[in-house]
Amino acid sequence: MTHTCSYLRLSLTDRCSFDCFYCGAQKKEAFLSDREYLDVGELERLARLFVGLGIRHVRLTGGEPLLRAGIHDIVRRLAAIKGLELVSMTTNGFALADTLAARPFVGLRRLNVSLDTLQRGRFRSLTGVDGLERVLEGIRAARQNGLTDVRINVLLVRGFNDDEIASFVRFGLERDLVIRFIEYFPTQKRRQAFRSLYVASADVIKIIETTFGPLAPEGSDPLSGPAQYYRLSCGGPRLGFISSVTHFFCSGCNRLRLTADGKLFPCLHTEHYADVGTLLRAGRIDDVANLIAQTAEAKGRYNKMTCSRFFEMSSIGG
Ligand code: SAM
Ligand code: SF4
Repeated sequence: MTHTCSYLRLSLTDRCSFDCFYCGAQKKEAFLSDREYLDVGELERLARLFVGLGIRHVRLTGGEPLLRAGIHDIVRRLAAIKGLELVSMTTNGFALADTLAARPFVGLRRLNVSLDTLQRGRFRSLTGVDGLERVLEGIRAARQNGLTDVRINVLLVRGFNDDEIASFVRFGLERDLVIRFIEYFPTQKRRQAFRSLYVASADVIKIIETTFGPLAPEGSDPLSGPAQYYRLSCGGPRLGFISSVTHFFCSGCNRLRLTADGKLFPCLHTEHYADVGTLLRAGRIDDVANLIAQTAEAKGRYNKMTCSRFFEMSSIGG
């Protein structure tokens, strides 16, 4: 496989406990059925093939990955794969405290919690759920469970939460948490509004520097996505910026995406996918490996920010 594909985003379900207005996870016309999901054995077999072909980081995502039955076993079995250096997860955090109270995760090294507002009413209007306190409790529980690498993803939407930038920086400083600000980009029918709704990372940096002083760039993390990290001169945890709109990062993209039913997408923005799940279920393991390799090799052709398809973030996992 081309050396550029070292990171696999693995969606475990297309369902979600929230219905964020920019994502609309509960508004889909049809959801996958349980038997369409790759089961834990299939996930493990596929992950071994991916690792054999160069993948070093698997991120579990969704929909909401904590809704997936058997999530502890999925994490444990993937984390035990030799050669896989990092298993991480992106979650909305709502079920985090309960999931960790049932059993801690074994092998999960990094957790990203999506949290776009620190205001209870706003949280409810964003997600449809009065769940801010539970998410905050989940973040505390993650730290108490020894998860040291917890990062908060803040998707900024102009006019909705861009007045909370400084509050999030303080939130990170007080709790020693990495805060990552993400530029909103449009999916499905929400495209037209996007020009006015994203907040450019450069503007976010200016706002932060006005209040907290200069930020020093620290570059990106190896094995990970396109986030660029900075540090405040007063110290504290890093701040990350994901500039999906203002900085095309296609040429440096190292990611592949697998849906919960085994469709492999070389890019978020293409209609093209390889149905590795069906081949796997037919027992055609060599063909699966070849198809993964071909899809990764051809990735450059699909890496265009031209958005050739309408897609739902909750199906492909962001
Ligand atoms: N439910 C989990 C969560 O929210 O963390 C995992 C799936 S969610 C689709 C993954 C990430 O995609 C979240 O951090 C969310 O903020 C981000 N996301 C969703 N829609 C987006 C959009 N239109 N632009 C940028 N990021 C988006
Ligand atoms: Fe669910 Fe995540 Fe989409 Fe929000 S962004 S609706 S939490 S999948």
